[in-house]
Amino acid sequence: MYANSIVELDRAHLIHPVASWRSHEKAGVRLLQSGKGAWVTDALGRQLVDGFSGLWCVNAGYGHESIVEAATRQMRELPYATGYFGLGSEPAARLAAELAERTPGDLNHVYFTLGGSDAVDSAVRFIRYYFGAKGEPQRDQFISLEQGYHGSTTVGAGLTALPVFHNGFGLPFPWQHKIASHYPYRNRATSDAEIIAASVAALKAKVAEIGPDRVAAFFAEPIQGSGGVIVPPHGWMKAMRETCRDLGILFVADEVITGFGRTGPLLASSEDDIVPDLVTVAKGLTSGYAPMGAVFLTEHVYQTIADGAGASLVGHGFTYSAHPVSAAVGLEVLRLYEEGGLLENGRAMGVRLLDGLNGLRDHPLVGDVRGRGMLAAVEMVTDKEAKTPLPAVAEPGRRIFDRAWDNGLIIRAFAHGVLGFAPPLCCTEADIDAIVERTRMVLDLTL
Ligand code: PLP
Repeated sequence: MYANSIVELDRAHLIHPVASWRSHEKAGVRLLQSGKGAWVTDALGRQLVDGFSGLWCVNAGYGHESIVEAATRQMRELPYATGYFGLGSEPAARLAAELAERTPGDLNHVYFTLGGSDAVDSAVRFIRYYFGAKGEPQRDQFISLEQGYHGSTTVGAGLTALPVFHNGFGLPFPWQHKIASHYPYRNRATSDAEIIAASVAALKAKVAEIGPDRVAAFFAEPIQGSGGVIVPPHGWMKAMRETCRDLGILFVADEVITGFGRTGPLLASSEDDIVPDLVTVAKGLTSGYAPMGAVFLTEHVYQTIADGAGASLVGHGFTYSAHPVSAAVGLEVLRLYEEGGLLENGRAMGVRLLDGLNGLRDHPLVGDVRGRGMLAAVEMVTDKEAKTPLPAVAEPGRRIFDRAWDNGLIIRAFAHGVLGFAPPLCCTEADIDAIVERTRMVLDLTL
């Protein structure tokens, strides 16, 4: 057993995110102790290959000394600087500029947050302000996708379409609307073109239903992550982006998971060949070494808000916006993606990962394998022809997670029988092979 005292302290006092509090009291905690590359070691000395980069975030992998040094240097020199009162810090300004240079189109303005949820909240607030500044304050309705995840703050959880984030919380708000996901594996449409056309039609219909002059924005993930790694057909993002432009509403790409090499390029939007009006990011921005998220604003959105406010304050900000230590981490992580070859390695390993997982299609439980780059899913079914989901048993995700853990593998096990993969971009070929081999063991044990 782990040091009992720590388990007891955790059990008695620590509330875990998205957990059954009662089950956690019984099961206790598994303590992670250290990490190197794609591997973590628990407090018992068990080594596990982390096929999920913590929570889709440790893109650079564990134990990067240069990131630790960047953070330490900044902590010694200036651990904190507020952005209020016209103050700031060098790493924050440099990181904003480096990011603006790399984002597609004229997404030139960056607002830093502490993570993804508050990036989404910030985007919603900026959008409301934008339409107020344009003289259209009645545009206060937002649309997102079924199976979408946009965070766990009250506003983000309402845009999210996963019931567990709504039940008991009085969400979603009446101004938060959903349209069907593209979900190719479970879509009745038979071609990519039909799936895309259906989503475009659904968005147009929803806007017409709400009122064409009432809708502010549509939020979408380039690949739906927490809904089960659902990859839209190629061209879906572009079609939705263009539809938003035609409808006069803003298009927000929520790249909290897909950003920073997860699907190949720095932002998935560049691969989709689009410039969203706003983009939200987090996770890979600092590779999980320090908390940070961001919202990127196009020139048009930024200038409209700035003009609208004039000399008045735009009243949105956090104590830890643009935290200098997180920004210093972000700068070093960005260097590793490029000069350190992480993006390139991630692209090569992403191909190996998908090849490997596709090799599991012969398994009786595997209904679908999908992904892009280092982001993938295996959807399990009991009948491949009928695509019958695994039977709903209590906490099936947790049991499959346990099986993986016992076999030295960390993956995400979604409750509806989907296995999620998001390994660090630093993975070696042997790491990827270990993930795939151990996944086969998990599938065999789930039969
Ligand atoms: N948006 C998306 C697409 C996410 O996947 C997440 C987290 O997984 C969030 C927002 C919320 O980010 P955070 O957990 O950093 O608040």
